[in-house]
Amino acid sequence: MRILTNARTLIDLYKDYRSMDDEDRADFYKSKCDYYQNYVGISLVAGVLASITYIVSDYLLNGSFLPTLIPRLSALLALAIFFIITHFFKKREIVVFMDFLLAHCIVLATIWAIYHLDDRIHASEGFIIMNVMFMTVGFVARPRETLLSSVVFILEILISNTFNHYSNLDIILALQLPLMVAVFVSHALLMLFYLDHYRTRQELELAMITDPLTQVYNRHLLEKIITKNALKDIAGPVAIAMLDIDHFKQVNDEHGHYTGDLTLLYIGQKLAKGTHEDDYVIRYGGEEFVIILKNCDVNNACARMEQFRRDIESATDTPVPFTISVGVSRYTGDFSKSIQNVDHALYKAKNTGRNKVVVV
Ligand code: GH3
Ligand code: MG
Ligand code: MG
Repeated sequence: MRILTNARTLIDLYKDYRSMDDEDRADFYKSKCDYYQNYVGISLVAGVLASITYIVSDYLLNGSFLPTLIPRLSALLALAIFFIITHFFKKREIVVFMDFLLAHCIVLATIWAIYHLDDRIHASEGFIIMNVMFMTVGFVARPRETLLSSVVFILEILISNTFNHYSNLDIILALQLPLMVAVFVSHALLMLFYLDHYRTRQELELAMITDPLTQVYNRHLLEKIITKNALKDIAGPVAIAMLDIDHFKQVNDEHGHYTGDLTLLYIGQKLAKGTHEDDYVIRYGGEEFVIILKNCDVNNACARMEQFRRDIESATDTPVPFTISVGVSRYTGDFSKSIQNVDHALYKAKNTGRNKVVVV
């Protein structure tokens, strides 16, 4: 039964995977790579060191360390290049390419060492062991990259056969092909299970920045915007509005907290629907909301908020009738200063009669 449940989960995950667009998929693979790259990097270093220790088995076959010493040590050069490139380039494609390149350099170093062995009968064991490395690198890769690497591996064996003349090429290939399928299937499965983890993480990240009552963003998002300086890169003008429900305490006192909550939910939803998709509606405090309006100058922001204020004033579907006061200001490039301005505008609206929009 458990197998059936797992199979159903996998089918659901596969459908989810198929439904992702290119951008989602790129983000998914970036996340998978970020998550596993440390493991893969350390494993590859271990792989290089392990491949060098094979000079011991070379010694047992040749009776001397010398013939295979340089081929075995050549993996260290590949490792050095790997460290330099991955230190400077962090793009997923480059990192994954370097992971595969290092793994294939270990294969090439092994092929070179085999060339200097008196007895090449054990080449098949050597190639089988190489699959452990491809199994590891696959953690950061897309299944098609794993597949491509496996094809390259087979080509490396076939081409090297022209000078290494493996006595058991048929056995090598017969062992290699099922392993190649196993590595591919294993990584396709891993990718689906990582998708489960990725979705859970996305849900948690969204929950962290969502206000549970009103379903708009909360202050965590604002902190993120500030720390990442996220508004700096927007080409057009940005306006900020701060909205506060008038005499909200009275709503609670006269109609109860539940009605107060419904009122907050109502305004949150109305703001979310009434703003553009890339604007931010943030519950700033109890009954205060900050709205970040992108590509919107201050006059336009003022007009939009005035319309919103009127809609609220005349709405007939609110839990209780209420009004709002709004402060509006231009984003100056300094978020703290802009919030101070908008707070000041709201303060003015409150002190000059409420139910109005004031610009600073
Ligand atoms: P003003 O017009 O000056 O803004 O007056 P006000 O009564 O709206 O402002 P005040 O700051 O005195 O009161 C805000 C109230 O908002 C007090 C608090 O109980 C209520 N409040 C804050 N968060 C929530 C919430 O999540 N649910 C409910 N129901 N009430 C809340
Ligand atoms: Mg209020
Ligand atoms: Mg308030």
